Amino acid sequence: MIVLKFGGTSVGNAQRVREAAHIALRQPGPRVVVVSAASGVTNALIESARAAARGDRPARTTAVQVIHDKHDEILGGIDSALQRKLAWNVVNEVQNVLDATLDEVEAAGSLSDVLSDRIVSTGEKCLATLMAATMRGLGHEAEAVFTDSIIATDGRHGSARPDRARTREHAEHLIQPLLDAGNTVVATGFIGFGPDGATTTLGRGGSDYSATLLGAALDADEVQIWTDVPGVLSADPRAVSTARVVPEISYDEAQELAHFGAKVLHPRTIRPAVALDIPVRILSTFLPNEPGTVVMREAPSDRIKAVTALKGLILMTLDVPELEDLAPAASAVFRVMHEQGVEILNVSQASSRRRMTYIVDAVTGGCANLQLLLEANLDDLEATITCHEHVAVLAAVGSGAAGTAASMSRMLTVLNREKVRVLALNQQTSSVAMISVVDECDAARAVAALHNAFIRPVVATSRARRRRRTDLLSESLRVG
Ligand code: ADP
Ligand code: ASP
Ligand code: MG
Repeated sequence: MIVLKFGGTSVGNAQRVREAAHIALRQPGPRVVVVSAASGVTNALIESARAAARGDRPARTTAVQVIHDKHDEILGGIDSALQRKLAWNVVNEVQNVLDATLDEVEAAGSLSDVLSDRIVSTGEKCLATLMAATMRGLGHEAEAVFTDSIIATDGRHGSARPDRARTREHAEHLIQPLLDAGNTVVATGFIGFGPDGATTTLGRGGSDYSATLLGAALDADEVQIWTDVPGVLSADPRAVSTARVVPEISYDEAQELAHFGAKVLHPRTIRPAVALDIPVRILSTFLPNEPGTVVMREAPSDRIKAVTALKGLILMTLDVPELEDLAPAASAVFRVMHEQGVEILNVSQASSRRRMTYIVDAVTGGCANLQLLLEANLDDLEATITCHEHVAVLAAVGSGAAGTAASMSRMLTVLNREKVRVLALNQQTSSVAMISVVDECDAARAVAALHNAFIRPVVATSRARRRRRTDLLSESLRVG
């Protein structure tokens, strides 16, 4: 059994949906196809919800129209009139739920997390309906399944945590029989349900995570992430034009890359695959015959494989003049961060043991909020919190190389040469990634320079030169 996930660009219009359907149907069954909303739809849904909350009818209508137009165009690409009609009925019903929920938001004058999730989930529901109908129009048995009856979560709206054991039970009861009957199951990515039955979402970009959750729940042999790039590349190709496909990476390396900003995989995607040793393959819908990248348990190499950057972070320092205050202060910081759901990306302690440095996600609304929140919880201790906003983490990933002194020295030399101010550093023996924290405005320059230094240049064969002239995103040179 395989799971194939198609991202927003890969299902962005009628032609893309049909191509994705062909790619999926060419694979041997049984198969589960996980779909995102069509590109632009989730953003338009969020915009419609915000417009409704501020009572801005014209903006709401404009955003909803974008969504309707996109779905109508995809609907028009379905071959059979009967399938078009059946799909239209469901899409119309889902869009009515959207309208009714937007009315609720407008009446309340504010957008709750519960209603926000109900609104954004409609994008994936429409697309799953349209994809299943497209497949049936092509003469294949296919059923759309809405995962807000399958993926059980803790109910944390906007970033729900799945309950894998319960998800497995639901998948066995609701998806397995459809597969056994010969159907291709088309499941909504991104969405689940909470303990109260309300629709939840797994965080932006969460359809990748849905794919591995369903893969693990159904003991898949492989999960395929079909997207707009030909695999995991040595850097974001939008930032580094010479970025190349990395053919094999380990689960650990993929997790580091995803956590430090490689958007090609949602940060939590790999975890469900690890326990069951399920290979995760990243493939391009634009170049479907390219081998892509396979993520698996071991992918040995002694070199840095990829460089990435994550922006929008806060560098926070905790200063405690008295040594004995350090442990209680650090413990209070961790507790508050945990209670507030603030993700800590990195922590280090100064050799003097009087300062700790934390790199955190700026979700709290910035430094001022974070500082107030922590100071209120540290008032019995002599401790000072200082924050530095708009920082980025640079990560160089490669399990054989990232833990060596030579790599760290090279990283620092490159950053020094580029006049990039290094605010913090982290490297450990046998670590999979070495990181440095820099000002956000330096991140792009630093990534390009590090890529240049660490990723071996390609020997330009005439074939490679020809390929270089093609679209950047279609490039698929190989790095080992
Ligand atoms: P999808 O809609 O298919 O989920 P995303 O836009 O979420 O696609 O992810 C694919 C994008 O990830 C690419 O277009 C690319 O710009 C970006 N990206 C960032 N880092 C990397 C990387 N190291 N390798 C490949 N793609 C990357
Ligand atoms: N449609 C959702 C988003 O835009 C989920 C996804 O694309 O994976 O975030
Ligand atoms: Mg994505």
